[in-house]
Amino acid sequence: MADASLDLIRKLTNANGAPGFEDEVTEICRKETADFVRAEEDCLRNLYLMPKKNQGKQPVVMLEGHSDEVGFMVHSINEKGMIKFATLGGWFSQALLGHKVRIRNNQGSYIPAVISSIPPHFLNEGKKNQVIQTDDMFMDVGASSRDQVIMEFGIEPGAPVVPDVDFYYDAENKVMTAKAFDNRLGCAAVVETLTKARDLDLKVDLVGVLSSQEEVGLRGARISANRVQPQAAIVFEGPPADDTFTPADQAQAVMKKGPQIRHLDSSMIANPRFVAFAREVARKNSLPFQDTVRLKGGTDAASIGLSHLGVPAIVIGVPVRYAHTHHCMASFEDYQNAVKWGLAIIKELDQKTIEGF
Ligand SMILES: [Zn+2]
Repeated sequence: MADASLDLIRKLTNANGAPGFEDEVTEICRKETADFVRAEEDCLRNLYLMPKKNQGKQPVVMLEGHSDEVGFMVHSINEKGMIKFATLGGWFSQALLGHKVRIRNNQGSYIPAVISSIPPHFLNEGKKNQVIQTDDMFMDVGASSRDQVIMEFGIEPGAPVVPDVDFYYDAENKVMTAKAFDNRLGCAAVVETLTKARDLDLKVDLVGVLSSQEEVGLRGARISANRVQPQAAIVFEGPPADDTFTPADQAQAVMKKGPQIRHLDSSMIANPRFVAFAREVARKNSLPFQDTVRLKGGTDAASIGLSHLGVPAIVIGVPVRYAHTHHCMASFEDYQNAVKWGLAIIKELDQKTIEGF
C-alpha cells in the first residue's frame, strides 16, 4: 500500500501543472479513480470526482486539493535567444538562479532549460553580494538566437514552465524530495481518501475536487465550491514547514510531527467547531497533529468557506520544507497520517454534526 501511495505521489509531482495548465494532473487523478467515480471537468480545469455510490440524499462533503503548482510563463525572447519569463505564484528570487526548468513548446513537448546566471568569474565583489531580481533573469534552452528558440525549439510567448525535478524517496529516512509538494500531496490525499472510502458505509456523500489556479489567487475553488455546494469541506494542502528556522517552542509546521490543522491565515478563520471536531477525532484515533496559526498565506478553504451560503471548511496540511522552490521535502508518514485523519473525520460526519458547525 505504501508503494502505491508513493507511486501516486511520484506521478503527481513529476506531472507538469503550472496554474492554468493543470491538464496532466487532472488526467492522473481521473484515471486513478475511474473504476468507482463519475468525473466531470469545467473550463477552468477544475475536476470533480463523484463516487458512483453517492445517492444524493446525504450531506455532501467536499474533499479538495488544488492541482496547480507555482510555475512560470514565457514572456518574450530576446535577440540572443534568452527567454524572459513571468512568475505564476509566489517565488523567492534567490531560490531561482541556476535551477533547471522545462518549457512547453508548441508541439506539447517539455524542453529543458536553465535559469541563467552570470558565472562568478565575471562578477566583481560588489555585484556578487547583490540580490538579482526575477525581472533580470532569463531561461536558456541552449539556443543562440530568437529565431532558433521559436523555429527550432517551438517556444513562444505564453508557454507554461515548471521546475525540472524528479521525485526521490529516501526509504530509510522516509523523506520524499520533489517539486510541487504544494499541492500534489493534497491531490494524492484527495484521491487516496476517496479510494479508501469507496467501500465504507458513510453518512455523507463525498465529492473529490481538484481545483485549478490556487497559486494565483485561489481562483478555481471559487467556481468549484459554488458548483458542488457542499455542506462541509476538507482541504488537503502542502503548506510551508517552519522547523528549520523557528525556535522549537514557536514552530507549528514541523516535518515528522504529523499533519497540521490551520486555525488562521490571512485569508480565513477556519470554522472553529469543525476544527475542534477534527482535533477530537485525531485524539480518539491516536493520530499526531499540529496546530497552526499562520499570519500570512491563504488556501482554497477561503474561497470554499465564503462560497454559496457559507461552508464550514478545515485545512489539513502536510508540512513541506522549502515549499515554492525546486526541491521540496516532506515526510511520508506525515502524508499517511493526513490521509488517515481525513478518513477518520469523514467516518464520523453526519447531518447533525455538520449542522452543529
Ligand atoms: Zn498550496
